[in-house]
Amino acid sequence: MPQIASIGEVMIELAPAGSDADKELKALSFAGDSYNTVVTLARLGVNSAYVTRLGEDAYSNEIVQRLRNEEVDTGAITRSASAMPGLYMIHNAPDGEREFLYWRDQSAARQLFEDDQRNQALSAYFAQCEWLYLSGISLAVMSDEAREKLLALLHAYKANGGKIAFDSNYRPRLWASAEKAQQANMAVLAITDLALLTLDDEELLWGSKGNPLSEANTRYAELSIDEIVYKRGADDVIIVNGNAETRVAVKRVENVVDTTAAGDTFNADYLASRLLGGSAIEAAREGNRCAGVIIQHRGGVIDKATFMNHRAEFTVL
Ligand code: ADP
Repeated sequence: MPQIASIGEVMIELAPAGSDADKELKALSFAGDSYNTVVTLARLGVNSAYVTRLGEDAYSNEIVQRLRNEEVDTGAITRSASAMPGLYMIHNAPDGEREFLYWRDQSAARQLFEDDQRNQALSAYFAQCEWLYLSGISLAVMSDEAREKLLALLHAYKANGGKIAFDSNYRPRLWASAEKAQQANMAVLAITDLALLTLDDEELLWGSKGNPLSEANTRYAELSIDEIVYKRGADDVIIVNGNAETRVAVKRVENVVDTTAAGDTFNADYLASRLLGGSAIEAAREGNRCAGVIIQHRGGVIDKATFMNHRAEFTVL
């Protein structure tokens, strides 16, 4: 049975692929934070599952097939006859800035956790998993009612001895208000064992009076999170266990090509290392390695052989 199940939304991605006369060409692929993480987890040898809701269309079939090719368990994925996967497009503006355009309001993933009968089946599935992984984006794409239902499932899972890993991944435009996002985050962090946070997102979500790290530590001090990991781009990763704080240096990558999925990939390698018996420091070093590789390539999920070879060659500090 899966050691870890990742919960969230995967979308169809249309990325720039040159031009042909007056046509702009696009390359079609699939991406989403929880999807990027689960694919990497499986590549690193962790028995992993993906939990989402898709449609019955050809691209939904293709997503399932790709997950199977990556040896990710798809047994908990449900299909909707009335919806399809969300879609996003990457647009390169003339000034070189990348713009992201989304069509995800009606996506099948929004229906995940809406239905009580399906939730019962998911609850039984979760009970067999050692860990569940989800993010602030997973929480943002569902209705308030569905989010409450998911929280109930997570509480039951946790009461049964299950472990929860959470990345706050704050995307303001997915939320009606910052307060809503704060509430949802706190509700999940209250039952989280391993928090994989990005300090920039913490500051964006909560604001800061000048020291976002100590403010975050104060905010979460009352919660019983075993391990909090703060990702800070090319700056040291900071791991907080109770009152102990450990810093793990990052080898700065100079030729950054695309930072998409840096955090998602870091999370995958961190989790893989922890689940396979590594220490927090070893896990952070592995996370840095994987993230350092992904940011030198375009896209959230890159070809498996390229990823594995580059990862093996990439030396960490
Ligand atoms: P997110 O992608 O979620 O915004 P960060 O920007 O904090 O998260 O980056 C996540 C991880 O990616 C970092 O902890 C680090 O391991 C790696 N990373 C990001 N930028 C660099 C860089 N310039 N050089 C090396 N590693 C980086």
